[in-house]
Amino acid sequence: MRHIAIIGSGPAGYYSAEAAQKKFGDEVAVDIIDRLPVPFGLIRSGVAPDHQSIKAVSLRYEKTNLGHNVRFLGNVTVGKDVTIAELQKLYDAVVLATGAPDDRLLEIPGSYLPGVVGSAAFVGWYNGHPDYRHLDPPLDARSVAIIGNGNVALDVARILAKTENEFTGSDIVGHALDRLKQSNVEKITFLGRRGPHQIAMTPKELGELGHLERARPVVDSQDFPDELDDALLEPGMRKSVTHLRNFQIITPEAQQKPIEIIFDFFAMPVEVQGDGKVEKLIVERTALDKYMRSHGTGERYALDCQMVISCIGYRTPPIEGVPYEHGRGRFANSDGRILPGLYCVGWARRGPSGTIGTNRPDSFAIIEVVAEDIGAGGRFEGRAGLDRLLQSRDVDVVTFRDWKKIEAAETTRARAGSPREKFTDIAEMIAARKS
Ligand code: NAP
Repeated sequence: MRHIAIIGSGPAGYYSAEAAQKKFGDEVAVDIIDRLPVPFGLIRSGVAPDHQSIKAVSLRYEKTNLGHNVRFLGNVTVGKDVTIAELQKLYDAVVLATGAPDDRLLEIPGSYLPGVVGSAAFVGWYNGHPDYRHLDPPLDARSVAIIGNGNVALDVARILAKTENEFTGSDIVGHALDRLKQSNVEKITFLGRRGPHQIAMTPKELGELGHLERARPVVDSQDFPDELDDALLEPGMRKSVTHLRNFQIITPEAQQKPIEIIFDFFAMPVEVQGDGKVEKLIVERTALDKYMRSHGTGERYALDCQMVISCIGYRTPPIEGVPYEHGRGRFANSDGRILPGLYCVGWARRGPSGTIGTNRPDSFAIIEVVAEDIGAGGRFEGRAGLDRLLQSRDVDVVTFRDWKKIEAAETTRARAGSPREKFTDIAEMIAARKS
């Protein structure tokens, strides 16, 4: 028997469990450990609440968990309730699928000012992550600057711009919906340090901006290269650029929409200014070199704004004793191997890139590496040892069956048209399991 512990119950964790089931059949026991009492990581707390079709992938993870030999152990914090070293003494393989939940830092003067918010916090707030339930973003802001030209920036802008009606069918948490309904936002500016041909927004998601009830995208035709150059782009990027070009056409209907979502390309924020809170962002114009890297031109201007949301990527939090690549914000690894018996997968392995589905092949590849290293197993005690350890420490483990009760309670209390009203407090989640 092979014993595998997976830390993190997001997509990379569950795909790794599925891969282990498929690879080893009855000859494996997989424990998925998460610090939260609820599973699915980024699916629950990262994917936008109005993208329910993407969230449906959790049904696949559920099937994995209902299969033999896979357990979910929620409310167990690695580093507090059990250490990596202890897990390594109990399991043939310990796989870190901890994702990249921390913001890459916006290292410019003034970034500490109230009103500057990282995307991890803002996304966590509207998705009901317990760490960010008390965020209180300044939604009295009329002008919001969003730094970054990726899909997270797009999610954040769309959520800020939508009407209550457009959240029908979403699982945006009540506290966020209530605040967004009162929002004063009328201008949202994306600051991209490069141009339309370097945008990291994918076509389907970008296209949604053209169909919002009360907001319209605004681009400056001067930012675009010659249209013939679009032919040189790979197909996905070409589609994104086509959307951007189409945003130049402003219909009379779009003209009436009160919220502008402005694409400010070749724009690099250099300083946040304000008296005790954000009042303006100082931005420097950029130009690209022959390697398509951006450089400041020295030309600066001020963008009046009362909130800045930095969407410039994420980092994996380091774990004491686990080799880490500080520059890239992920575990130091070679094809997922960190140390003997210790592996990483997903964003914790390769950094924050790709869609949810990208984690599937990544996870299957890791399990091949694990299989090569551990052979038939048989040298470790596995879950019986972990259970004993957690019991001796009085850890209140939340099982998958418990989660199903929490989920049922969330479904029962959902507002009309919404699939669930998430609990945002850990104690509430744990209490709901007894309901
Ligand atoms: P991302 O795609 O890497 O985009 C980060 C953006 O931030 C880029 O435009 C980057 O510009 C910019 N940036 C980085 N450092 C900067 C700095 N110091 N100053 C100014 N701008 C800076 O990251 P993400 O948006 O966080 O998304 C993470 C991953 O999740 C991506 O693979 C994304 O596609 C995926 N995702 C997918 C969906 C979906 O499919 N619906 C939704 C959300 C996220 P440069 O290009 O110049 O570096």
